[in-house]
Amino acid sequence: MNNKTKATWMLAAALSLLLAACSSERAAEPPAPTESPKPAETPKPTDSKKPVESKKPSDASGDSSVVPAPPATSANSESAKEAKAEKEAKEAKAKEAKEPKATKEKTNPSEPADKQSQPSGASGAVSDNGKAGAAGPKNPAGAVTDGKAKEPPATGTGDRKALSWYYMKKPKGQVPNFPAETKSYTKDMKALWVGTGKKVYLTIDTGGPLGDIDTLVKSLKDNKVKANFFIAGYNVKKNPDFIRTLVADGHLIANHTMTHTDMNTQTDEQVRKEIEDYEKLYKDVTGKDIQPYFRFPYGRYNMHLLKMVSDMGYTSVFWSTAMRDWEPRKNGAEDPYNDIMNNLHDGNIILMHQGSPENIQALDKIIKAVKKAGYEFAPLSDIEPPK
Ligand SMILES: [Zn+2]
Repeated sequence: MNNKTKATWMLAAALSLLLAACSSERAAEPPAPTESPKPAETPKPTDSKKPVESKKPSDASGDSSVVPAPPATSANSESAKEAKAEKEAKEAKAKEAKEPKATKEKTNPSEPADKQSQPSGASGAVSDNGKAGAAGPKNPAGAVTDGKAKEPPATGTGDRKALSWYYMKKPKGQVPNFPAETKSYTKDMKALWVGTGKKVYLTIDTGGPLGDIDTLVKSLKDNKVKANFFIAGYNVKKNPDFIRTLVADGHLIANHTMTHTDMNTQTDEQVRKEIEDYEKLYKDVTGKDIQPYFRFPYGRYNMHLLKMVSDMGYTSVFWSTAMRDWEPRKNGAEDPYNDIMNNLHDGNIILMHQGSPENIQALDKIIKAVKKAGYEFAPLSDIEPPK
């Protein structure tokens, strides 16, 4: 492929990464206090004012029924950029399809990226860039730098260096590429980001607004699908009946911390407390023990924490599909449907934010299409633990 094509590709790859990363953050995240440094989140007037809110579950969560507010400022410009990027990505894809080699190239970008960055999350764009940047050398504009610069307080080094999860999308049907640091995970850093076979793992993240619970529960039930829920503790407190319903329906529910804060900004003691308080709360509400899976809010973590959480008995769960679902979707429910179907692959761990109305509207259709494509929805416990 020529250089132009190559460049386009990288951009495309970078974008997809960003998207993935961001989405996780955003939606899920109502602006975490910590994240204020992050451009995106800061913007929310309400939130910004209440720094401590994070501790108050209800507030933090974004009561804002609106899907997590995107960062105001940067958001706009970013979305524009993003749109452009998406276009280019599409074009790139088309080209790629014709050129098998393209795939390889994608991979490259991904590696460098791994190392870092992420976004702070807030602004989708930002994060995206950050992610992309991560990709390295070739990233779109200074993504790397941006990502780093925006990284919140958490500027650790060594095994505490702040990392953000992302993935590099590949052509339809293929398993994405993942950050280079995954190769450094040791046995005592239990983590999952993709499974194998004709199974799909739907993970629903409720770090932000609860949204249309009734439609969500009904769509899963009508289709006899078991999903995996990562619900922040403040949301458990806000609607314990919802949690009990999920348990009764047989869904897997796992630990997503009490306050949904970027764990990179917390001391070990605070992280432990976030997790242990969640265990107690879950037990109080359901009478059961929490499932041994954990998701870092915003996908932000570091190697030290990954090991610490693992030592606490948890397997950290990342993802292989995520969406820009923390902000209104341009084409409504078509967007989450297309995002998921266009990246459907074996062992797909899908991250979907519960607070996105479009996600919930599209859920029934998505489930039916995924099944029609030959996949079965499964609990994370079906994934063979990493060895
Ligand atoms: Zn979350």
